[in-house]
Amino acid sequence: METITSRIRIIKGDITKIQADAIVNAANTSLLGGGGVDGAIHRAGGTEILEACRKIVARQGGCKVGEAVITSAGKLDAKFVIHTVGPVWNNGNNNEDEKLANCYSNSMKLAAENGCHSIAFPGISTGIYKFPKDRAAGIAIKTIYDFLKTHDLPGQVILVCFDDESLRVLNEPSNTYNTH
Ligand code: ADP
Repeated sequence: METITSRIRIIKGDITKIQADAIVNAANTSLLGGGGVDGAIHRAGGTEILEACRKIVARQGGCKVGEAVITSAGKLDAKFVIHTVGPVWNNGNNNEDEKLANCYSNSMKLAAENGCHSIAFPGISTGIYKFPKDRAAGIAIKTIYDFLKTHDLPGQVILVCFDDESLRVLNEPSNTYNTH
């Protein structure tokens, strides 16, 4: 029998090269592009994604921390890009854990609503926004697991690590325990 744990895949790689129905972008509140994975996704996907973001900005003025919006994926090998805005790490004094969990659950909700089977995440907030990687890994795994228990997202959730440290903390036994 397929377990929930077996539907969560942890891999090392570049998220712009991943085949999944939806790819998640660690965006900022402006939705108009930035560095890190955001820059990589816009570069690889082409101007179509930025145009779609501009329309969302015109309609609703960007995206709040913890929330998510969906656009087409331009030249990427995906149907959609889901842009979510992670919290900037502030020593845990600003509800960062809850905000990060909201990024994962709201992104998966949008994916499910748009008929996606598979979704790929980068380590939201663990780059320029300085969220500790081990803490972020635990939140990611727990939130994804809890979501898959109660929602209809039939395919895989892929956690794409860009560096060895991210890969190591996601594979820590303590994170596996979170999924039992
Ligand atoms: P944030 O501002 O949310 O911290 P960053 O883009 O700075 O976003 O970093 C988020 C994570 O994405 C970091 O762990 C970074 O190493 C990783 N990353 C950067 N480029 C890529 C990429 N092309 N594919 C997957 N992950 C990436």
